[in-house]
Amino acid sequence: MLGEKVIDGRQIASKIRSRLKAEVAELKEKGICPGLAVVIVGDDPASRVYVNMKKKACAEIGIYSEEYTLPQETTQQELLDLVKRLNGKEDIHGILVQLPLPGHLDEEEVIDAIAVRKDVDAFHPVNVGKIMIGNYDFLPCTPAGVMELIKETGIEITGKECVVVGRSNIVGKPQSMLLLQQHGTVTVCHSRTKNLKEVCKRADILVVAVGRAQMITGDMIKPGAVVIDVGMNRLENKKLVGDVDFDSAAAVAGAITPVPGGVGPMTIAMLMKNTVKAAQLQA
Ligand code: NDP
Repeated sequence: MLGEKVIDGRQIASKIRSRLKAEVAELKEKGICPGLAVVIVGDDPASRVYVNMKKKACAEIGIYSEEYTLPQETTQQELLDLVKRLNGKEDIHGILVQLPLPGHLDEEEVIDAIAVRKDVDAFHPVNVGKIMIGNYDFLPCTPAGVMELIKETGIEITGKECVVVGRSNIVGKPQSMLLLQQHGTVTVCHSRTKNLKEVCKRADILVVAVGRAQMITGDMIKPGAVVIDVGMNRLENKKLVGDVDFDSAAAVAGAITPVPGGVGPMTIAMLMKNTVKAAQLQA
């Protein structure tokens, strides 16, 4: 049955948010209210949607949130000054600068300016280094969400062939590190990988984060594999699809995430988890 194979990210994320809501209520009894500042520069419609979803999740869980909407022409110095101010703000435990930033701004310098203890996206080089070592406070939200989804399938990662397609700093690279920490045998693919089909076909666990609509098809998947689709692509007809061709892949896979309703809701739930953790650590 197809329904049994589909990993319901919405439902799993909702369970996590309920748990966090209870944790936040406990923290509030101790006089601690977790606070998240979300900074958005310019008017990218996709970024706007993500920021709204994050604010909505904060409200549901009881996290205090502040939004800073800056105009497209904001200078690097103005953005850095805001980040610095938020670093010192006591009611704010997590700072998220929505990426991508407009082209004239230096993302790396902005991320570097965020206080390590408030870096709930876990993009700061210190947090990235901690993940590499395996001694971290925060995990990047999307790879952490993917790990939760794999956990839900009940599959043991130890010793499994894990293939990650994509090697970006925000998804592919940290994803491969997390699978390695869970004792997977990890292969990372990218745009120069030869024989992508053969490599993918080896995978017991396949995580795809490329940004190319429906590029991974059923013939590239090992029967019974767990397939996690991080991709989010808008087709010309406005339909949102993943990097995996769902219908052909679902016919072969043992478990598979849909798009939408797979990784997306988990990313936001993990951001909420990091914000609550940041508040606990700073208390
Ligand atoms: P990037 O563009 O930063 O990275 C894409 C990666 O895919 C690169 O490593 C690139 O290789 C690789 N790649 C490109 N073409 C191919 C190919 N033909 N074969 C194999 N590998 C290829 O993207 P992100 O990691 O930021 O995002 C990936 C996707 O995930 C996007 O669709 C994005 O929208 C989505 N996303 C979804 C999130 C969610 O919450 N659901 C969160 C974050 C992202 P190379 O390094 O060689 O260029």
